[in-house]
Amino acid sequence: MAVVAQPKENPWEVALRQFHRAADNLPLKRGIREFLAYPHRELTVNFPVQMDDGSVRMFTGYRVHHSTVLGPTKGGIRYSLRVDLDEVRALAMLMSWKCALMHLPYGGAKGGVACDPGQLSRGELEHLTRRYATEISIIIAPDGDIPAPDVGTNDQIMAWIMDTYSMHRGHSVPAVVTGKPISIGGSAGRREATGRGVMIVAREAARIHGIPFAGSRVVVQGFGNVGSVAAYLMHDQGCRIVAVSDVSGGIYNPAGLDPRAALRHMQQTGRVAGLPGAESVSNDELLELPCDFLVPAAIEGQITQANAARIQAKIVVEGANGPTTPEADEILADRGILLVPDILANAGGVTVSYFEWVQDLQALFWSEDEINERLERIMVHAFNGVVELAREREVELRTAALIYAVKRVADALLIRGIYP
Ligand code: GLU
Repeated sequence: MAVVAQPKENPWEVALRQFHRAADNLPLKRGIREFLAYPHRELTVNFPVQMDDGSVRMFTGYRVHHSTVLGPTKGGIRYSLRVDLDEVRALAMLMSWKCALMHLPYGGAKGGVACDPGQLSRGELEHLTRRYATEISIIIAPDGDIPAPDVGTNDQIMAWIMDTYSMHRGHSVPAVVTGKPISIGGSAGRREATGRGVMIVAREAARIHGIPFAGSRVVVQGFGNVGSVAAYLMHDQGCRIVAVSDVSGGIYNPAGLDPRAALRHMQQTGRVAGLPGAESVSNDELLELPCDFLVPAAIEGQITQANAARIQAKIVVEGANGPTTPEADEILADRGILLVPDILANAGGVTVSYFEWVQDLQALFWSEDEINERLERIMVHAFNGVVELAREREVELRTAALIYAVKRVADALLIRGIYP
């Protein structure tokens, strides 16, 4: 679970500021701009879960659809104590832009339950998931809104959601969630997809920045599904992984760490700290280590105006959603640090989620090679498109990616018209 620290800003305000910065660069009609600044619909559910000791505890969950303009909505479900409506709103809006940027036929959504999954037994986690899935089943559907894993959730939780939804329908509905186990309609390559996408854009960023990828020094914050896979895939490309961290702290070795050994150590001990041959660092120190690539792959609000001036990376690749605040964006840009934004850098996950959904709907499955080749093509194409637009408009990559994505949604909205 890659939860690191409390974010210092309201994520919804940050998402809105990023959106308006992009909108300032577009000839958007006033009504369209206002429309896109609102989440389309928001569901809050308070529900009971029977705990192992026989007590009943109340939990609060959410599912927000930001935009339904480009297609059914898509986005993960997060289990974390920090989950609240503003965080889910912000992440739902980011999913709209991410899907639009990657040309996926989806709007954006997000869900979450305020809980600490590490403190729940497997049985409690299953009860919580099945009850939450039932509560939000009024707004999820294979052709309406398709959840996926995010911070604190995984393929087992997706399996319980798929099963719960299917029990209510009386037949199996694999396409209602993505990120499922392969045995029930999941896709080859989905587990590694977000980390693989991070590796691909990091490689492309090295190319345009004129630094050799092999031998580059990499720092990864967060060692969950995104950070750990990005670390070992970059290591496989010859990068030197000098530091990694999880919620309880980090490890550093300027000569390089073996990320697969760190992963095994974490699976055995529950944390990366204590890996032989590495010194320990705090999560704050880790962000400021000398390196070529900094990959924040935990949660939002990590690079802020408080530490941006001390970041030593040449390139920041946002594996997490929203790890950098708008103030920090400006400081990094002024210092000549290239930043590959979340909606591009971590879009490999939702892209292979789209492949999974298409395979489920067709009941026809692709090979892992085919998945990885298609992912590579789509990531490189999106990266080049964003870089080209950034040069044309003389803006940073985040603003360029948002301009591109917001324009796609706005164009679709214009042509569909305002109902009634
Ligand atoms: N939670 C991931 C994200 O933030 C994946 C979403 C999905 O696959 O639908 O992009």
